[in-house]
Formats: sequence, C-alpha cells, structure tokens
Amino acid sequence: MPDQQLEGGCQCGAVRYRVEGEPVMAALCHCSMCRRANAAPAVAWAMYAQPQLSFLAGSPAIYESSPGAQRGFCARCGTQISFTADYIPGLIDITIGSLDQPELLAPTFHYWESKRLPWLHVADQLPSYPEFPPTE
Ligand SMILES: [Zn+2]
Ligand SMILES: [Zn+2]
Repeated sequence: MPDQQLEGGCQCGAVRYRVEGEPVMAALCHCSMCRRANAAPAVAWAMYAQPQLSFLAGSPAIYESSPGAQRGFCARCGTQISFTADYIPGLIDITIGSLDQPELLAPTFHYWESKRLPWLHVADQLPSYPEFPPTE
C-alpha cells in the first residue's frame, strides 16, 4: 500500500484528519494510561511521522496525561484521536479505532503486555512485549 491515504475523525465529526503513506508501526497497547484515557481494555495505535498527518477539520484538545505526554481528543464528543510524547520526537500515534476504515490497518504486535487485563483474550499469534517494544 505505497500511497495509502486514510481518513478518520471523532464521533461527532468536529475533528477530521488524513494520514498518508505507511505507518511507522501499528500495535495494540495494554498500558493502564491508554486504557483509562480511552476507557477501553486495550488501544490500537498507528504511529506516523508528524508530516504524514494533516487535520481537515478542527484540531484535538490536548490533555497532558503524564509529564511530556500529550493525548489529543475531541473537545466536543471526547473521542481519543492522538498521542505525542517527548520520548518519540517527530512522531504521532493515531487511534486506529478513529479511522473511517480501521479494518485496513492491522496491529502487528502487542506492547505493555505486562498490564494486559487477565480476561482479555485475543486470538492472534502476534509477538508481545512486556513494556515498550525494543527499538532497532
Ligand atoms: Zn467530536
Ligand atoms: Zn499505552
């Protein structure tokens, strides 16, 4: 999918965005911060270089969930949209669940496996890492 272009947005439509090209990675995070922010048992993220993302309508409100980490969400309807952090400069995570066609971006690994809820069974063979994945 060399020229893949995907669009997404929040539930009410006030925030709309487009991402272009391949994501750096797509993965399921089981950490407690993502779980709480999204009120979901796990969160699927697609990571992009910031220039790959453009907002077509609105822009997310920002909540600093921990020092140096910003979660972007729709101020009107509350949908979680993005994640940026000082430790991943130049990169931005987009919630796969906010894409119009989330089925097009399949996660390729699990991270923060050490925090996975014991009742959450996902029938896949993907690699999983206890915390952040190793960086090449
Ligand atoms: Zn909204
Ligand atoms: Zn997380």
